[in-house]
Amino acid sequence: MFPVFLPVIYSKKYINRIDKIAQLTEKERGALKRVEEKFAFRSNDYYLSLINWDDPDDPIRRIIIPDTAELEDWGKLDPSEESRYVVAPGLEHKYDQTALILVNDMCGGFCRYCFRKRLFLEKGREIVRDIRPDLAYIASHPEITNVLLSGGDPLYLSTQRLEAIVQKVHAIDHVRIIRIGTKMPAYYPFRIINDPTLTAMIRKYSMPDRRMYVITQFNHPRELTDAAVLSIDML
Ligand code: SF4
Repeated sequence: MFPVFLPVIYSKKYINRIDKIAQLTEKERGALKRVEEKFAFRSNDYYLSLINWDDPDDPIRRIIIPDTAELEDWGKLDPSEESRYVVAPGLEHKYDQTALILVNDMCGGFCRYCFRKRLFLEKGREIVRDIRPDLAYIASHPEITNVLLSGGDPLYLSTQRLEAIVQKVHAIDHVRIIRIGTKMPAYYPFRIINDPTLTAMIRKYSMPDRRMYVITQFNHPRELTDAAVLSIDML
């Protein structure tokens, strides 16, 4: 058991508009509006508080604040060519042993470098809506021993909704590992700290012969706040 739950000191409310960020100049907000019209912006008070606003090249700022360079016309919206591996709506099968389920298209924040930005352009198009065909595919492929839940960010879902997915995947006999890919410990660790049902759910489904893992990404040491470290510890 963890002795304390940190009180929520930052609003859970997400910030979806650049013009809500007072630290940017009017000129910056004007320039970035064009970017956010194409590639959505999303953050929250907690994560924005990690930015050193005196530094225009602050690394945290570059992770989360749009950049006009995003409008330059080069690159691909599907750089990993994930579309080649789609075998059912929201399900990719690229490596023999691993299946990837895109459970949602929402995150604790939108990383400007995200290689799945296309998900946020056409909402709902590539993610799972009815998980039954995905489960049927995995069940009929015994080589799949490892299922990665991603998106979007699975921890954006309520624990109840996430458990409904985990429980069904867990019930497939040959699935030995369920992974949850999330950046929530960096973007909003209070999602984990303040929800004991999440760790209880992981404890319930992670067994010696059938493990659950949470994989996460931190891009800069300043993201490793006390709250972030506590959330990782809890997981
Ligand atoms: S958290 Fe993951 S899916 Fe969401 S924007 Fe960042 S890299 Fe993309």
